[in-house]
Amino acid sequence: MSLRPIYGQKSLLDRLAGALASSRFPQAVLFTGPAGVGKQRLALWVAQGLLCLNGPGAPCGSCSHCRQVLGLGHPDLHWFVPIPRPKAGDPAKQVEEAQELLGEVMAQRRSDPLWGRPEGLSSHALASVRLFHRLAWMTPFSGARKVFILGDAERLIVQEASQEAANALLKVLEEPPADTTIIVTAADPHALLPTVRSRLVAIRIPRLTDDEVRAFLKAEVKTPPKGAALERRILLAEGCIGRALRTEDGSDGPDRAAALLLAAVRERNRSWLPMALAQPPWAARGDFTGMLDALALTLRDEVRREAGGGGQKIEGRLRAIKRVEATREAAQGNANPQLALAVLAADLEALL
Ligand SMILES: [Zn+2]
Repeated sequence: MSLRPIYGQKSLLDRLAGALASSRFPQAVLFTGPAGVGKQRLALWVAQGLLCLNGPGAPCGSCSHCRQVLGLGHPDLHWFVPIPRPKAGDPAKQVEEAQELLGEVMAQRRSDPLWGRPEGLSSHALASVRLFHRLAWMTPFSGARKVFILGDAERLIVQEASQEAANALLKVLEEPPADTTIIVTAADPHALLPTVRSRLVAIRIPRLTDDEVRAFLKAEVKTPPKGAALERRILLAEGCIGRALRTEDGSDGPDRAAALLLAAVRERNRSWLPMALAQPPWAARGDFTGMLDALALTLRDEVRREAGGGGQKIEGRLRAIKRVEATREAAQGNANPQLALAVLAADLEALL
């Protein structure tokens, strides 16, 4: 299967196409914007535009290079995504392992090009950075250019340690080889090291309209939701297709879990505790963040409904929303969901 088409973003695509056609597209850029808004999909579009045999410019979509990019099989497109930490002890072996792990992810995405969030513990390990550095200095395989996409750059391990990895990465970002374009994506640019961020030209990716999200769900999802379920999904997505896809299985799991938690907190009966502890280990971390999103949305709806009434209730809910958002942020990292949920529930008891 090939990549799904891009919905919306017309004016952004026009601007990008203009920059590509006039060869003014920067060599090292940072796509920022909310999680799930489509930053990596847009980066792939830019890669296609750079590698297109009729380019550079808006990709023609039909030449062999365009088709290779759409099928995630272009040898000069290097897409780095967070992976589990390689297990090998020897650094050279680790690089090989990272390359294999990336290959496995790409194979998955070729068979199902609607990817979700990376697993909670995956990262751009030191081995990935070494691989990136090595590939950047190789000559292009089949075209005039190479394109690197570094998705979810908040997960760069250089954030934590290893001066060597940081230096290797900074060197490439500072002076990319002439035939190389690097597109880094991050929902939170401030989570990147300032030294990394300052070497990138930032481009903000805006949210989609509800109509665009609706059109995507209707056309690209195997069993699209209908009626009220569809509208609820669109509301939860807040202009981000990735968020609309997280509840792709059609279940109302996150909504139900959020309602259960909220009811338990308000009854002060501590029934949230068994829930927090007995949950399946939120193996799909997306379920957990999905539940937090549903919780924040419910609280926001309540605030809207009561606006005008003013008073303590609103104040408490606004603070509760902040707490939920902070928990969500921690959940993106390595926070233990069970523990985070237990702490959150206790805090909400005091606020609601
Ligand atoms: Zn083309």
